[in-house]
Amino acid sequence: MDKEMLVQLKCPFCKRRILDASKSIKSSIQPASQYSRSDYYAKCWNCGRIIGISKIG
Ligand SMILES: [Zn+2]
Repeated sequence: MDKEMLVQLKCPFCKRRILDASKSIKSSIQPASQYSRSDYYAKCWNCGRIIGISKIG
């Protein structure tokens, strides 16, 4: 896998890397809340908070 093809998505709370996404996909990462809908949810392995990830393009 070519690292140049990936963009790191980071936890909005502690800035640790949550996952890598393809550069061809635009993603938005934000704290998960009942007021904003996200496509994916991930739990940060570092701080344990839930992060919402949306594919926006
Ligand atoms: Zn975190």
